[in-house]
Amino acid sequence: MEVKIVKKVLDANDTMAEENRKLFRDKNVYVLNIMSSPGSGKTETLVKSLARLEPELKTAVIVGDVCTTNDADRLNVTGTHAVQVNTDEFGGDCHLAAHVIRKAALDLDLESIDLLIVENIGNLVCPAEFDIGEDSRVVLLSVTEGEDKPLKYPVMFKLCSGAAVLNKVDLLPYLDFNIDEAEDNIKSINPDIPVFRISAKTEEGFDDWLSWIKDVVKSK
Ligand code: MG
Ligand code: ZN
Repeated sequence: MEVKIVKKVLDANDTMAEENRKLFRDKNVYVLNIMSSPGSGKTETLVKSLARLEPELKTAVIVGDVCTTNDADRLNVTGTHAVQVNTDEFGGDCHLAAHVIRKAALDLDLESIDLLIVENIGNLVCPAEFDIGEDSRVVLLSVTEGEDKPLKYPVMFKLCSGAAVLNKVDLLPYLDFNIDEAEDNIKSINPDIPVFRISAKTEEGFDDWLSWIKDVVKSK
């Protein structure tokens, strides 16, 4: 019974995701869905990345959290247009579903946007199961987490086939984190995925990471 209900929810989500995908295609907007656990630096990575992308690409962000507009407030200083979604009005969901993205996207001026980034809710489990109509997915893992997170949450690392980002590399000298092992673990789940090693604080590794974004946006 319960399995049936979950399947129904996911089927309805997939239908809405396809409608979103059509809308984004019609408006020629590339959509990147970024996922990670809480505190791995999604928002800081976006603040720094968008400030550098904005002269070349017109961007917008839909950022999800259960509560607060803190992240949209931080992102809106970069020149992007950030819309905060709080899932407490949708029952406190721990992921962004396609209908939530639909509602937020219709508030954006999609005609004038090249790249829409969705900062998903911090959670390495269920956001991976919800197609939102994105073109690609990026998973972020910070070096303050364990090297074995890709092995513990393989679905996330498998379904985020766009890119994986290892963040906070400026902290490596102070940690026992083995970054090569972390990358090997990611590649054992998803052999072809590009892996970027960055620091959102120092912007180390940003040239390759931002080139990748520009390339995928141009490829649509
Ligand atoms: Mg955030
Ligand atoms: Zn969830």
